[in-house]
Amino acid sequence: MADRDGVIWYDGKMVPWRDANTHVLTHTLHYGLGVFEGLRAYETAQGAAIFRLQEHTDRLFNSAHIFMMKIPYDKATIMQAQRDVVKQNKLSSAYIRPIAFYGAEAMGLSARTLSVHVAIAAWSWGTYLGPEALENGIRVKTSSFTRHHVNINMCRAKSVTTYANSILANQEVALNGYDEALLLDVEGYVAEGSGENIFIVKQGKLYTPDLTSCLEGITRASIIELAAELGIPVIEKRITRDEIYCADEAFFTGTAAEITPIRELDNRIIGPGKRGPVTAQLQTLFFDCVKGRAKNHTDWLTLV
Ligand code: PMP
Repeated sequence: MADRDGVIWYDGKMVPWRDANTHVLTHTLHYGLGVFEGLRAYETAQGAAIFRLQEHTDRLFNSAHIFMMKIPYDKATIMQAQRDVVKQNKLSSAYIRPIAFYGAEAMGLSARTLSVHVAIAAWSWGTYLGPEALENGIRVKTSSFTRHHVNINMCRAKSVTTYANSILANQEVALNGYDEALLLDVEGYVAEGSGENIFIVKQGKLYTPDLTSCLEGITRASIIELAAELGIPVIEKRITRDEIYCADEAFFTGTAAEITPIRELDNRIIGPGKRGPVTAQLQTLFFDCVKGRAKNHTDWLTLV
């Protein structure tokens, strides 16, 4: 990833990709406190457009606020920088990764006196769970690793810290041949995927776990809005894994995973074992919105 042409926005400047380096004593590398985002820019008839730039930027700043990390730029600067990296790398579609992290001035757990740095990279990134996943769905396994308790790691923050738990879960199930992991909360209720929110469809209604132990996904919020517009009731509640086994349909949502049908959980086939009609309808509408083909929600897109 590091050895390629292009530019990365780094502390206010566009830096050649290969030179966007940081010191090995960077605090975040040692203690794991950093906050980041993942956004996508899609190709539209008017050019590349970033999906929900404002909401992702708000979440980045909220994540920093939760950890009392002071991002030394205002939101307008960070929003413009995200547009600029897509443009200057001449990308028609892209995955965008802003990250805020602490500098290398000192070791020890106190981060209050440290500098905060921001880097924003953008590159072309296809379907996260493989090209067939969006159509045929994926095989998911419940992980033996539990999602963080709300008082261990702050679930509202998209922090670097969360992802060690995600990697443990994902590598556990991947080594056993599954495509993605489902994590349960400390009480055994469904939380989310390693990098996705989850929905199920049962008798024409959509269910998703409430936000206690999962990230407040921006794709999740978009799907809730789209479902409401289609007249599909959405219920946020505690969900058990056997409810998923017996659902008519299930799918993951996320910026990287987009809308990915789940065809199997823990070796139980869900519904027809392929993308179901409600999932297909929401997926089509979602892609129409992100690609600027829908009449509604043009405000979700920011041209670069
Ligand atoms: N949960 C986790 C743990 C994630 O990493 C992500 C991806 N950011 C999501 C949910 C989905 O969030 P979003 O739709 O905002 O990408």
